[in-house]
Amino acid sequence: MQGDYIVAAGKKGKIEIPKGAEVYDVTGMTVVPGFIDSHCHFYGMGISMLRDVQLRDTPTLEAAMARLKEKAKATKKGDWILGKGWDESKWPENRYPTKQDLDAVSKTHPIVTTRICGHMVTLNSVALKIAGITGKTPQPAGGQVDMGLDGEPTGILRDCRHLIESFIPPVTEDEAVEGLKIASEYALSLGCTSVGDAGLNAYELEAYQTALAKGHLKIRAYLFLDETVQKPSYEAGIRTGFGNDMIKIGPSKLLMDGSLGARTAALFEPYADEPKSKGFLLMPPEVLDEKAKAAHRHGNQVSIHAIGDYAIESVINSIQAALKDKPRKNHRHRIEHCEILTAGQIERIKELGIIPAMQPNFVGEWAGPGSMYEQRLGDDRTKLNNPYRILLDEGIVVAFGSDGMPFHPIYGIWSALNHGIKDARINLVEAIKCYTLNGAYASFDEDKKGSIEVGKLADVAVIDRDLTKIKPEDVRDAKVYMTIVNGKILYHKGL
Ligand SMILES: [Zn+2]
Repeated sequence: MQGDYIVAAGKKGKIEIPKGAEVYDVTGMTVVPGFIDSHCHFYGMGISMLRDVQLRDTPTLEAAMARLKEKAKATKKGDWILGKGWDESKWPENRYPTKQDLDAVSKTHPIVTTRICGHMVTLNSVALKIAGITGKTPQPAGGQVDMGLDGEPTGILRDCRHLIESFIPPVTEDEAVEGLKIASEYALSLGCTSVGDAGLNAYELEAYQTALAKGHLKIRAYLFLDETVQKPSYEAGIRTGFGNDMIKIGPSKLLMDGSLGARTAALFEPYADEPKSKGFLLMPPEVLDEKAKAAHRHGNQVSIHAIGDYAIESVINSIQAALKDKPRKNHRHRIEHCEILTAGQIERIKELGIIPAMQPNFVGEWAGPGSMYEQRLGDDRTKLNNPYRILLDEGIVVAFGSDGMPFHPIYGIWSALNHGIKDARINLVEAIKCYTLNGAYASFDEDKKGSIEVGKLADVAVIDRDLTKIKPEDVRDAKVYMTIVNGKILYHKGL
């Protein structure tokens, strides 16, 4: 490596090492291109690391409530308590927390806790009152305020956290920059050198620029502009690709459904564990058609969140219509998550050249026997979730990311190798490629990064063991030894 770039690549003894070069012996380790997490919420992760009570690893609902109670004890009366990452499918109680649970934590602090998927929040009575949510609150478009048998809100909001968002103290610029700094350090410790931040507003976009200018952003970021509610970026003359090697404008991001966990992913057939519900679309198909068409027409990449097969169908239709309206090769439109697919949809994705941007860690977390996927989908449909093997065999470019659940490329790779559905498993090299080169392709960067080749940016991760010599089930134990960005060692284990 020299400057920012790779100048030679090859095996020991096969390439000439220039005089004066620093040499690191990594015998017995694995050198891979820096991981690219194609879909996470990097800005949000940093802020959450700063502000939220982390509930992701709580073994029971009770333990989660206890953790919030601890925070309440140390928090001034009236100040907000924010919890993040609860996952009822991991709790023996196996139910969503309600306002009653949170009222038992505190009746003097407003509390908002967000489910791991981000599509569902629970508020306590104080927070409901501040937000003015009552039994008379009309159901918001594209979301749901759960009402109890008494006609009063249960505290659960599905895909409508905007009802509470504006009441939570806003993130300051200092917090935003600090968040990006600690998120960068965390990413580097996991071998990740690039991220796709999948949905930003103008304030957050600016924070990236400030963090970069101050030297606190250490990894490359592809910035998705959330255009579900916000004004489209192209109206300001900003198009996909604008930026530099560190921060670059990504796609127009749109959301078409919610999540399986919150039972808001839109399915053709009802949920196995809630037969009255098939989830719901977050906007009518004709509205998506218009939004996708407009973004496409302006030359933007379009990236649409769709998890359930019904939502995916609608997204494919919209992308097809946009391409028909204005044919364009190399559009690289993406479906984010793309989890429950029919055979016909896989064919159409291939034909249209759509990139599924998928999160193998979802499978690691929720796809085993008796898991959340099985509960929600029932036996037959579970077999169809996240079919990596079929997609790769079809020659479809699949880009991997984490969606931050958890943010952890090696865990994601392990999950893809050990998929609960055996037929969907892929091999180590394929999984690494999905987490590197395919991620680069999904952001139009495959000529610059994603593989260790002469002339590419020197982004490299060194894993502390030889991954090709260990069993697939042991891959999750591997740790990152060193991470290099732009030819500089930015993380070194033990240093
Ligand atoms: Zn996401």
